[in-house]
This record gives sequence, structure tokens and C-alpha cells, in this order.
Amino acid sequence: MGAGRIDNIQGRKLNHATNDDVEFCRRCESIIATLPIRYPFELRAFLKALGKQRGMTVVLGRMATGRSGTSGLMMRMRTECLLGVAAAAVPTHVFHIVSHEIGHWLLDHPGDYVCRRRTSTGNQHELEAEQFADLLQAHVRAGTARHRDRQLPPGRTALRAAFGARRHLCADG
Ligand SMILES: [Zn+2]
Repeated sequence: MGAGRIDNIQGRKLNHATNDDVEFCRRCESIIATLPIRYPFELRAFLKALGKQRGMTVVLGRMATGRSGTSGLMMRMRTECLLGVAAAAVPTHVFHIVSHEIGHWLLDHPGDYVCRRRTSTGNQHELEAEQFADLLQAHVRAGTARHRDRQLPPGRTALRAAFGARRHLCADG
């Protein structure tokens, strides 16, 4: 999983974007725009708010995966959505896996999913979930950067850029 690893969608190269790809990205963006994303971003708070928005309880858990290469799973029951993330996944990968799994959910893919690190390029639902994950993460990264900049009083952005982490140089910083 991850940006750049999907290089083929139904035999087409993604970097030669077709109308279908553009259309799909727009669909993802319009879904993402409706999501209850707050800053500073916190994954569990987001999943709780998402569940509330969709009338489901979202349960996030870690799972032992052995050598199967499984990275995540998503199972929906009537009122609960279970998200499983490989126990060994580091925090940034956890966010990616969760983004992928909720992609299956929010894109209305039918059934339950057990997903692997290496997405099969022949599986349309896996490709779509992966693209959704990339777009959601880019959206949250951009929002986080905007939020961080807004936290600085006017003029402090330049000061911070000049002094970096040496905050003590700024008398009231
Ligand atoms: Zn998947």
C-alpha cells in the first residue's frame, strides 16, 4: 500500500489520468469533504465522530497477523464496524491502513475485507480503497499544516522559520 505503488488500474497507467480516474478522485474528495475531521487530528476521535455520523460504532483494534502479510481488516455488522490493524504497524502506517479500510466502507464496497500490504492490481475494490486512503491522508496532512500555522500569532511564522526549534530566542514565543 502507499502512494506510487499502484501503477496499474485495469491495465491503464494511473499517471495517464483518464476521465474515469478524475471522476473517481472527485467522488473521493466529495466524500472526504463531508467527514467529521477536526484538528489537531486524532485518529480515535475521528473514528468516533465518523461512527456517530454514520450511525455505527467503530471499533479499532490491533491484531496478530503472523506471516500472512495481512495489514488490515474491515468487518461490518448491523451497528458496528470493526477495524483491525496489524499489531506491528507503526503509527503512520496505522493511519494508512485505517484510511484504506474505511475507504471500503465509505465507497460502499460490499462485504468484509482482509487486506494485505501489497495490493493486488487486479482487484478494483482494493485499488479504489487505496486511492481513497492516499487522498484522505493528503487531505489530513494539508489540514494539519494549515491548523499549525493558524496557531502561531502574526509574524511568528517567519520567526519560527528563522529560529526553528530554538523557541527561547523568542521572548514571548
Ligand atoms: Zn482493502
